[in-house]
Amino acid sequence: MTNKLGVHALVWVGGWSHDECERAIAQTAELGFDLIEIPALDPSSIDTTFTRRMLDRYHLGTTLSLGLDDSTDISSGDPAKQARGEARLMEVLRVAGDIGATHVCGILYSAFQKYFEPPTPTGIAGSVEVLRRVGEKAAQHGITIGLEVVNRYESNVLNTAAQAVAFARRVGLPNVKVHLDTYHMNIEESDLESALIDTGEMLGYFHIGESGRGYLGAGNIDFDRVFRGLVKAGYEGPITFESFSSAVVNKQLQGILGIWRNLWEDGADLARHAKGTIEHGLKAAREAHARSTLP
Ligand code: MN
Repeated sequence: MTNKLGVHALVWVGGWSHDECERAIAQTAELGFDLIEIPALDPSSIDTTFTRRMLDRYHLGTTLSLGLDDSTDISSGDPAKQARGEARLMEVLRVAGDIGATHVCGILYSAFQKYFEPPTPTGIAGSVEVLRRVGEKAAQHGITIGLEVVNRYESNVLNTAAQAVAFARRVGLPNVKVHLDTYHMNIEESDLESALIDTGEMLGYFHIGESGRGYLGAGNIDFDRVFRGLVKAGYEGPITFESFSSAVVNKQLQGILGIWRNLWEDGADLARHAKGTIEHGLKAAREAHARSTLP
């Protein structure tokens, strides 16, 4: 197995106090995951020294994810918002470097919100410019940037894998990649397997989540085809399980993501089940791929 497997911190905790940090990291490590993805909407809420110490203690890797907000929207075409957004992303890179994160991902190219207008060409060009500088800085720390494709209710810029591939090519840096998420793909893509294959080597980060964001397999996504798509794309990067329930509350994310329903209460049972599902699915897809190739 080459893909590192991760879990989003919101499976465990809603905040990042010392107690929450240690609990989330300890439980992630205990289940045998390779990494934990920490939300960094507010990078100043992360005590980098303490977090690094916990990651080292439990031998766990990490990644950071965030979305920008209206006041830091680098796709707005507003120079003041663009400057604030660039500063926010640079601050996140500093935190990522301090805790040893390998990837920074999410809605880094626009605000993480419902828009009521399409983006403008000037706004998109501004976002590309900022991300080029952010990507260059990230490369100095050996960090990969993942531009997360989300559904239309969470951004108006990148809603499909094809849009993200074109956008990442415009940025034009080897460490600025596409980040796909099955929850969003299920809403926007015509075909999940072919979207993964078409993204190919541009795929740099991956979220696996169900249609209702609960237990994998308890929704309507055809994960057998998702795993085959990942294998056919030759994807070897992280696969992080993302799931949200009203049982674990982070006020900011709850509102934007619309986390109203209780889909699970036991994060450990949920995450253990996800890990098994991912491992079995990948194994089957690799076997299918190896045995379908002509000698
Ligand atoms: Mn996601």
